[in-house]
Amino acid sequence: MKDEDEVHKHIMNALRNTQLDLRFPVYHDRVSFPNLRELGPVEMDEIFRRLWPGKAITNDLVADDIFKKGFKERAKSILSDLWSGLDIKDHHFRTRLAPLNKKFPSTPMPDQIRPIIVSSPIVKILETRLVHKLQAYLRDKLHRSQLGFTDGMDIYVNIWRAVKRIEELRDRRKHVYCLFLDFKSAYNTVPHSLLFDKLRGILSTEEIELLRAIYSRMSINIGCESFQPNVGVPQGSVISPSLFNIYAASFLERLEENGWGIHDLLAFADDHLVINITKSSLRLAIRLTMQWCEEVNIQLNPSKSGILEVPPKGGQLTMQVGSCFEGIPIVDEYKYLGLILDNRLSGAKHVNKLFGWKDANGVKHKGKIEFIKNNLCPLIRNISLDYRVNLWQTLIRPLFTPLALLGNFLCQTSKKELERKLKKSMKWFMGLVKSVPDDILFSLVSINFDEWARIESERAYLKWQARLSKTWVAHLPKYKVICHVKYLPREVAQFVNLQCALCPKCKTILTPLHYNMHMVNVPNVSVLLRELRMCFENERDRAYNRPGRMELIEVLASKVRGYIDVMKNFLQR
Ligand SMILES: [Zn+2]
Repeated sequence: MKDEDEVHKHIMNALRNTQLDLRFPVYHDRVSFPNLRELGPVEMDEIFRRLWPGKAITNDLVADDIFKKGFKERAKSILSDLWSGLDIKDHHFRTRLAPLNKKFPSTPMPDQIRPIIVSSPIVKILETRLVHKLQAYLRDKLHRSQLGFTDGMDIYVNIWRAVKRIEELRDRRKHVYCLFLDFKSAYNTVPHSLLFDKLRGILSTEEIELLRAIYSRMSINIGCESFQPNVGVPQGSVISPSLFNIYAASFLERLEENGWGIHDLLAFADDHLVINITKSSLRLAIRLTMQWCEEVNIQLNPSKSGILEVPPKGGQLTMQVGSCFEGIPIVDEYKYLGLILDNRLSGAKHVNKLFGWKDANGVKHKGKIEFIKNNLCPLIRNISLDYRVNLWQTLIRPLFTPLALLGNFLCQTSKKELERKLKKSMKWFMGLVKSVPDDILFSLVSINFDEWARIESERAYLKWQARLSKTWVAHLPKYKVICHVKYLPREVAQFVNLQCALCPKCKTILTPLHYNMHMVNVPNVSVLLRELRMCFENERDRAYNRPGRMELIEVLASKVRGYIDVMKNFLQR
């Protein structure tokens, strides 16, 4: 299908099916804006601090330039009567739908889009008034097990909680049945009327009226298509994540009333994990989930949900992978908040996804890291080593962080294996060959998996304690990967590789000492680095014509190239 109007029609029909539901009250009239307390300059500052320019263009064409530094003050004074209950023109509430393709680069079905709602800066200011109060509620009052979009929390806290709890139970020789729940487009299925009920006691009557006034005017538009939803909190709005958490908290409360402890309930926004140690409690959890979904209009997606059994160490599985239990598939892996968990909690499946694997038919699959590396290849070839380390930090390190959290619970052998993979990824990125020994790699960039694992766990522990006790952690430890040398030319990688090449005469791996034995005089890596640092300092501190970064790197590179030529000559002799 190519015709734009046709595409719009199909997308909107799919949205209308979920977001306009006649079983719930529809908006016949506009709800009047409440007369809210005027906000002082500090409170207006607070609102504007949370809003940024540079977002997509809106339907009412009010530019978000009003959030730019130079315009903020003026905008604040113009908009200060926004709270006085005056009627705001309807066209500000015509939101523009920006459908994102969830199946990119394939062609999506109408329900395979993420419907981002672009709303006017006016609506954003109105909503942002509620942010502070909602955030405070999430922090201090919401069910402790829900961590999504809560101040100071992150997915790593829940990954750590999950792994720690499962391991605790395994140590007590329990079979652990993890129930992972997937709710279908959860944000889009929240009925407004039920949401307003939930907000009573959390927001003031006037604040709920403000939200009702906004929603009663809000329409979704694309091309010539338009409709007014009575279901769904808009994706892209600053308050939607908080509203969803509040709406869905009753699920956690329901399970708690039925005997689940706080440590066996893990929620991150619409991502839920329920831990069980018997099949009967697993069955009950599924039944309660289905009941709850029915009551609150949330749709469970059974095929994307999963049951992962983790037996005690050395124990056998008691459930047949591939079959279903109460309609939920029994799986041998599940991706939980970015970490692929398996029946043994070994991290092996996660590592496979990163580095590639062979399936049952012997077909090789490329890993994520290889994919990233191949895409970067033309770019990475010409950049300095310290920048490559930075790239590794940005692109690859986050893929390992879940493994670092798992690391503390692994046996020495598995841990060493992970460390080996970590080093492999660094060598790849830095352009070093496999045979480069650890001490040389570490002299360029220091990384210690044990230490990293320990610090990530400590960090998650402190955050979770803070959540439980409703306090703040003043100082969180953070693991740093340090590149020891700044302005490190890429030639250093070639230098290191040549030092670890095969001796053409003796057929053994070369070392600086071995080169010397053949009367080839090259420094070892630490001496080279010292030379480069001295050279760098001399150049940098030059009184006149101080060189820029590129120039400095070139000076250092030419020094390294001298040694490279010497080694190359020997190898080609
Ligand atoms: Zn030799």
